[in-house]
Amino acid sequence: RKCLSLIKKTKFLNAYITVSEEVALKQAEESEERYKKGQPLGDLDGIPIAVKDNFSTTGIETTCASNMLKGYVPPYNATVVQKLLDQGVLLMGKTNLDEFAMGSGSTDGVFGPVKNPWSFSRQYRERRKQKSRGEDEDSDWLITGGSSGGSAAAVAAFTCFAALGSDTGGSTRNPAAHCGLLGFKPSYGLVSRHGLIPLVNSMDVPGILTRCVDDTAIVLGILAGHDPKDSTTVQNPVKLFMLPSLTDVSKLCIGIPKEYLVPELSSEVQSLWSKAADLFESEGAKVIEVSLPHTCYSIVCYHVLCTSEVASNMARFDGLEYGHRCNIDVSTEAMYAATRREGFNDVVRGRILSGNFFLLKENYENYFIRAQKVRRLIANDFANVFNSGVDVLLTPTTLSDAVPYLEFVKEDNRTRSAQGDIFTQAVNMAGLPAVSVPVALSSQGLPIGLQFIGRAFCDQQLLTIAKWFE
Ligand code: GLN
Repeated sequence: RKCLSLIKKTKFLNAYITVSEEVALKQAEESEERYKKGQPLGDLDGIPIAVKDNFSTTGIETTCASNMLKGYVPPYNATVVQKLLDQGVLLMGKTNLDEFAMGSGSTDGVFGPVKNPWSFSRQYRERRKQKSRGEDEDSDWLITGGSSGGSAAAVAAFTCFAALGSDTGGSTRNPAAHCGLLGFKPSYGLVSRHGLIPLVNSMDVPGILTRCVDDTAIVLGILAGHDPKDSTTVQNPVKLFMLPSLTDVSKLCIGIPKEYLVPELSSEVQSLWSKAADLFESEGAKVIEVSLPHTCYSIVCYHVLCTSEVASNMARFDGLEYGHRCNIDVSTEAMYAATRREGFNDVVRGRILSGNFFLLKENYENYFIRAQKVRRLIANDFANVFNSGVDVLLTPTTLSDAVPYLEFVKEDNRTRSAQGDIFTQAVNMAGLPAVSVPVALSSQGLPIGLQFIGRAFCDQQLLTIAKWFE
């Protein structure tokens, strides 16, 4: 009830698309009953959780923040949602995002932008007042980052204890960094994607947003493991729940990728990054500079692969099977076209067009096949570094702290996310686990996160190091 009342109080953040109040209250009653009767409890019995609105939920509208899916109520739960429900969680609602998770601000969904709860902290407000004098207070707020910004705002505003995000190029880690949370992207194949409405199938993973590493480990322990409904999940069972406490980091080797020192990196983030490296060094860890030479190609390579997969993924939204259908009936083709024009925003339509261009017979070799080869080179860069003895990489998560909404939307929404994803996208192309950990507040009083990147399927080791650092 406390969480539900906070959802109401913080409605202006626009974190939730659907609040499943009745469902949550019923689940809470059932949980209480189990407790009173001394029945066995689930691992998260009675714990409020929110879910990004691109995971299917039985009987609860799932929109992907798009006109295309408004009113669509799935007949099944995503595997990750089902696993959480099996452990007794209370489903508080479905959270806001960029349309179909395409974006890095949570500003581009059909339900409007998500506001960063930190915009309303006393410290930030006071500093803004001194600076801005007379600016319109109502439009003076910060983005959450994205695309899982609704999930991040929901956790940061204490309306739930954890939330599911999705991460294709940084969408869980980026809003975590901007909202002062833990944002975890598991190894590709560790957690089922069944029921996560796809953006880029070969890069998508469900992500976890929490307020501390131990909470992440508990949720991951529940979610990880093979799913017969997702053939890309691995067989090895994983049980994480309690992370060991790392007391000695002196045997660790931490890699600092030199290509991540980009000119756009803010001096504050850069200085926190080097302080973090110094901390490991002073505790006896080996900290070395490493090279990931193909980093500079990662944004453009992601763009070709992402849009190509998007073009194919979005073909299912034809007005026949799901959600929106326009009422033009001159011909089937005209109905398809008008439905898709009305249903998708310009970011989604732009990506479908680019993707279809890259997939044209005459372009396929030159773009799609070439991007796949570059993707291999990017993945090999990481493999080489880890094979040389590095345990984890330490990098920034974002270029700076959260930016004001009005500044963010000045740039064209089809290009604005590109450079900001420089630290996160390559990780998805290589399928590695990564976590953004909050480190400190900037001079504006806003959170800054740093990222640890681990070896494939060494998710537990990665979280253990993150816990030591936290
Ligand atoms: N910003 C990236 C994009 O728009 C990543 C999005 C994501 O991870 N879902 O594709």
